[in-house]
Amino acid sequence: MNFLKRRFSSGDLQGELRDEDFIPPVAPRKGPSPSAPSSPSKTASAPGIGRGFFSANKPTYNRDRCKTLLVIDDCHTDWSKYFRGKKIFGDWDIRVEQAEFSEINLAAYTDSGCMVDIQVNRNGTKVVRSFKPDFLLVRQHVRDAHEDWRNLLLGFQYGGVPSINALHSQYQFLDKPWVFAHLIMIQKRLGKEMFPLIEQAYYPNHKEMLITPKFPVVVKIGHAHSGLGKVKIDSPHSFQDIASVVAVTKSYATTEQFIEGKYDIHVQKIGNNYKAYLRKSISGNWKANTGSAMLEQIAMNERFKTWADECAEMFGGLDMVAVEAIQGKDGKEYIIEVNGSSMTLLGETQEEDRRHIAELVLGKMQIYCRPTPTMSKTSSTGGLMHYAMNGSQGPTPQMPPQQQQMQQNQQMSQIQGNNPQGNPANARGPGMMPIGGQGQMGSSPMPVPQVGRNQSMDEEDTMKNLRKTFAGIFGDM
Ligand code: ATP
Repeated sequence: MNFLKRRFSSGDLQGELRDEDFIPPVAPRKGPSPSAPSSPSKTASAPGIGRGFFSANKPTYNRDRCKTLLVIDDCHTDWSKYFRGKKIFGDWDIRVEQAEFSEINLAAYTDSGCMVDIQVNRNGTKVVRSFKPDFLLVRQHVRDAHEDWRNLLLGFQYGGVPSINALHSQYQFLDKPWVFAHLIMIQKRLGKEMFPLIEQAYYPNHKEMLITPKFPVVVKIGHAHSGLGKVKIDSPHSFQDIASVVAVTKSYATTEQFIEGKYDIHVQKIGNNYKAYLRKSISGNWKANTGSAMLEQIAMNERFKTWADECAEMFGGLDMVAVEAIQGKDGKEYIIEVNGSSMTLLGETQEEDRRHIAELVLGKMQIYCRPTPTMSKTSSTGGLMHYAMNGSQGPTPQMPPQQQQMQQNQQMSQIQGNNPQGNPANARGPGMMPIGGQGQMGSSPMPVPQVGRNQSMDEEDTMKNLRKTFAGIFGDM
């Protein structure tokens, strides 16, 4: 089925680009100031600029041997540069597509996965780039004060697109109190001393916001980032006022003690790379992440590492995680929240952090995007599965038996050839994702992101699947 034609014949867009088409590069802006996050950013993009990043005027990837990585981020960071010249499976390139959530649309199908459209402006003409992502890196918040892109998240999950962080975990991040509930569980397990979570109260609506807490108190309304929806309240009257505001937002709210802080602590874990920072407001705002702030990288210690490691276990595993805490003037630490792959990168090490993220992505793509033996350019994912499920489709079943056997042997050795360790668990096509792992359509709802977990069972299952699949194509093996 030609999805592109079918979906854009309505004339709402003036142009159409095929999967192979190419858009000239967008010059990235000069890097943001060290204390300013590179992303996500609220700054609007320059008018008339075609969005989506491309590394050069000519593709720097082999169109027949590449995997498509979709990075969801704003234009402040050109992610293509971190993947230029990088190879997976020996000689496969990474084709990077980049866009913000607001520029993306998609359709997902049970058998053929997810087709993504990025709307771009080329020489004043509105056109759409359409492609099938093999992997996703999400650097923007799926939900913020005025945005909620869960409809896209659902589509990516529906299409079985593997992602950093895993889509399953990103869904869990759609409500801050839900995340906080999981932090409470960690605290119950580790104890208050080891995991000093701030004390908080949750109100599903304004109606129960009657008991006046100890002032000053911080009220956090709804799900929002970057300091939005957070108010410091000093008196019972102001508390009543803010409860009345919560009433019109139709949102939940939390309250917590205002901590007289020395500085914020930011502990981040990207793969196996840990860093810690302190952040101190210099503009006088009680929110250290609002206005200008002083940043300093500080030494990681076992305590911070425990925080990051424990949080990285949440929701089936987080490849990237940042723990935010306040260092109180009373000498105590207070953990206030956790962010996932959309975490703000800080300071002068952002460049290095992005390289770590790129390494993490490459490692995961190596696991989840393994090329199928029968893969063609237009069907870069799920090809083998498609043939297997549709039985009579494709040229293979009509082949004479000897030819079938030859091709079967060829395909098996191609799989092994792509798998230098000879590890059958690694010999997967995208249609043969790790059992229970992310990206598998119809997989268990809890992804198991760590490779190697249940590996021997996994290997056995994979071999069974391989045998079944090849048996479906070529007859019993
Ligand atoms: P995100 O990190 O997702 O963008 P956010 O910035 O909207 O979240 P928080 O991190 O909870 O929300 O709060 C913003 C800042 O406000 C913190 O960095 C911290 O400096 C300050 N802050 C938050 N909670 C408290 C508190 N209970 N007491 C004192 N300061 C607080």
